[in-house]
Amino acid sequence: MSKQYWDEKFETMNETGMRAFQLEKLQGTLQWVYDKVPFYKNAFDEAGVKPSDCRKLEDLAKFPFTVKTVLRDNYPFGLCAVPMSDVVRIHASSGTTGKPITGPYTAADLEQWTECMARGLWAQEVRSDSVFQNAYGMGLFTGGLGFLQGAMRIGCAIVPSGAGMTERQILLIQDFGTTAIGCTPSYCLTIIEKAEKMGVDLSKTKLRTGHFGAEPWSIEMRTDIEKRGHIHAYEHYGLTELMGPGVSFTCEYYNIHVNEDHVYPEIVDPGTLEPVPLGTEGELVFTSLQRRAMPVIRYRTRDICTLRRDKCGCGRSLITMDKILGRTDDMMIISGVNVFPSQIETVLMEFPQVEPLYQIRLSKKGYIDHITVETEVKSEVYQAGQKSIDELAKKVSSRIQQVIGINVPVIILPAESIERSIGKAKRVIDER
Ligand code: ADP
Ligand code: ZN
Repeated sequence: MSKQYWDEKFETMNETGMRAFQLEKLQGTLQWVYDKVPFYKNAFDEAGVKPSDCRKLEDLAKFPFTVKTVLRDNYPFGLCAVPMSDVVRIHASSGTTGKPITGPYTAADLEQWTECMARGLWAQEVRSDSVFQNAYGMGLFTGGLGFLQGAMRIGCAIVPSGAGMTERQILLIQDFGTTAIGCTPSYCLTIIEKAEKMGVDLSKTKLRTGHFGAEPWSIEMRTDIEKRGHIHAYEHYGLTELMGPGVSFTCEYYNIHVNEDHVYPEIVDPGTLEPVPLGTEGELVFTSLQRRAMPVIRYRTRDICTLRRDKCGCGRSLITMDKILGRTDDMMIISGVNVFPSQIETVLMEFPQVEPLYQIRLSKKGYIDHITVETEVKSEVYQAGQKSIDELAKKVSSRIQQVIGINVPVIILPAESIERSIGKAKRVIDER
C-alpha cells in the first residue's frame, strides 16, 4: 500500500508545531533579506522595524508590504538576494498584467519547489504508475516545469506535450494511456470540446484526474469539466513571485491546502491593509519562509480570498484557502457594484444551453462605462433559430440582474467565434 501523505510530518503537523516552525523560518528570512537586499533594508528602516522585532508571528504585521510595482521597478534582479553564481534557474511570469516578474531560484529553492509540487500531486492520486500528460506551457512560465518537476519526483511516466496542438493531445491521451492531465482549466475545456467534435469518448480512455491551475475558474466550471471529461478535477494555485504553482493544492475534498511551511499566508482588508481574522474575505498576502534567491515579504497578491483552519476529511492540518474569486485587477465596478468575471461565469454556467466560453467587453459610450457579456451556446440553440437565441440571451441577462444586481446585455455570438484558450483564458476585453 502506498503512503497516504507525501510529507506526513508537515502535512499533518499541529497548529502549535507549525506556528513555531513558521516563526523560526520567518525570523531567518527577515534577517536574510535585511542583510542581502538594499530594498528591504531601506523599507524596514523607513518603517522603523528590525528583523529582531519579529518575536511572534503577529509581529509580521509591523513589517511593510511588498507590491507588484516594486518587483517591476527592480526588474530583473534588484531584489535577488544571492549572487548569480548561486542561481540555477530563472523563470518569469506570463505578464498577464504588464511587464514580466522574475523568479530566480537557488538549487535549494528548486528542491523545495519540487517537493511542494510532489506533495500536491501525491494528494491528487498521482503515483509512480500514473501517466502524466503535462499540457502546461513549457518555458519561462512556471507552470510547465513546476508540474514536470513534481511529477518527476513521484516517478510517474511524463508526457511533456506542452500547451496547444489539441488534436494531438487527444491522440496522446488515447495512445499513451494518459491517466492524469495537467493544464489550465480553460485549456481542458478546449480539449474536451475537441474530443467531443472528434467523436472521442473520454470515458473510454484511462484518463481519471485533472490537475488544473493558473487562472480563476468557478465551481460550476469545475463540475462541467468533471462531467464532460469523466475525471476528478483537482486544483493548484501559485504565482511566480512565490515559486509558481505549489503554493497550494486541493485534496480529494476540494479543500485548497496551503504549503504553509514554505509560504506564510495572511488576509488583509484591501482598504485599511489591516490583517483580518480567519474566515474573512480580503486580499491574500504571502511571505516566503524558506526561499533564498528572491524571498518576498508580505507580498500583496491582489487575489481575493478567505483563509480557514477547519478540520479536513483528508487529515491534513495545513491551513486552507477558498477558491480565488478573482484578482483586484480584474474587478469591475459597474453601476457602483463590484463584479468579478468569475461571478458572471457562475451565472452563465447555470444554463446548460450556454457553452463555458465567454468574454466580457467593457466599452465607453460618452462618459458612461458599458459592459456586455458575449457567449456561445450549444448547437441545439443555434439550430432552433434566432427567436430561441434571443430568448435565451434575455433569460441569462435577467438572471445576472437577479443574482449580481446589475443590468448586463448578453450577446450570443455565432458558434466558434470566441478564441479557444490554450493557456490562461482572456475573459475581459477592455476597450475603454
Ligand atoms: P501572471 O501574473 O502573469 O498571470 P503568474 O503565472 O505568476 O503570472 O500568475 C499568478 C496568478 O494566477 C495568481 O496571482 C492568480 O491570480 C492566478 N492563479 C493561479 N492559480 C490560480 C487558481 N488556482 N485559481 C485562481 N487564480 C489562480
Ligand atoms: Zn484536505
